[in-house]
Amino acid sequence: NKKKVALLCGGRSGEHEVSLVSANAIAGALDRERYDVLIIAIDRQGKWWLGEHAIARMQKGEEPYGDPVHLLPEPGRQGLIRLTAQGWEEIPVQIFFPVLHGPNGEDGTIQGLLELANVPYVGCGVLASACGMDKGIMKMLFSQAGLSQVPYQVVQRLQWEKESSSVIETLEESIGYPLFVKPANMGSSVGISKASNRQALQEAFAEALLYDNKVVVEKGVEAREIEVSVLGNNEVSASIPGEIVPCNDFYDYTAKYIDDRSRLLIPAPLTQEESEALQQMAIQAFKAIDGTGLARVDFFMDKKNGQIWINEINTLPGFTSISMYPKLWQSSGLGYSDLLHRLIELAEERHQEKQ
Ligand code: ATP
Ligand code: MG
Ligand code: MG
Ligand code: MG
Repeated sequence: NKKKVALLCGGRSGEHEVSLVSANAIAGALDRERYDVLIIAIDRQGKWWLGEHAIARMQKGEEPYGDPVHLLPEPGRQGLIRLTAQGWEEIPVQIFFPVLHGPNGEDGTIQGLLELANVPYVGCGVLASACGMDKGIMKMLFSQAGLSQVPYQVVQRLQWEKESSSVIETLEESIGYPLFVKPANMGSSVGISKASNRQALQEAFAEALLYDNKVVVEKGVEAREIEVSVLGNNEVSASIPGEIVPCNDFYDYTAKYIDDRSRLLIPAPLTQEESEALQQMAIQAFKAIDGTGLARVDFFMDKKNGQIWINEINTLPGFTSISMYPKLWQSSGLGYSDLLHRLIELAEERHQEKQ
């Protein structure tokens, strides 16, 4: 009577590869006494493929073997459907674990499908996922909750295309360089640039607009980067804070995944008071978006005066065994496998509460 956990990974987002790595790590660490693991690798077209081989095939840019599987948006099936030349078969699944980063995975869309199918799934629901993914909405909720943030402005594509010179003027006057330009819905620093002059700002907009119609521009700060892991549904706990020391000018895609010279300091060298303040803010941020399950909350801490700003929340943070989210729990006394078990328990509890 082991439970079958389906790991959903890959997907149509700019964070496809990162997700495959996270899923491999989770598959390797799930307690096999308790769980059977089923990999569902979603390709760049959005088709769902079954089995561990599918990850390897997709990593090589090849189509997986077999027939794709489907989750029907209707309750009561308790699993997946596979259409074959002979007809169709049902593949039972008890719990779904979205290990997807970015659009279509972390933004509430897949959560909506799982809600319609009425199956338990790990992590945040539709609302929290959507609010956490969209940096514009997220910032509104944070400010509503009284969490301090760096000055920022949201710019829509149309606005930029029609009147970029007035947008630039406003940004220069009200915020000033250096500016960080980000697609509103993305992660892993994909599409993010730092701009220190007008020319760079224009290039930064062009880059961000490749990924989204909505762009968030922020004041660039000289700050330490601190992250806190959050876990829970109704009762939420926060891990000890960790610090990232990026090897590049900022923690860009290369510094995150390609260059291995970025360092994680766990625990972050902070005073007890600073740590507690950060933990409290992380929990507040999680509640502000109506989070359940897990999230990683990212902060900036002014290098000169220690002032803290919240940067963002990630409802499906990187999840390899060396990723910050599980490492912070590890150092807070909750190992990787136990953490996965707890996340599945939280998913089941939340599902039961809804019935
Ligand atoms: P994640 O992979 O954490 O989800 P993301 O794509 O959502 O990343 P952010 O965390 O907002 O992006 O920014 C990525 C990195 O860019 C930060 O870790 C930091 O190094 C740098 N950065 C972002 N905004 C600022 C800012 N306002 N001032 C200084 N550095 C910044
Ligand atoms: Mg993010
Ligand atoms: Mg992210
Ligand atoms: Mg971040």
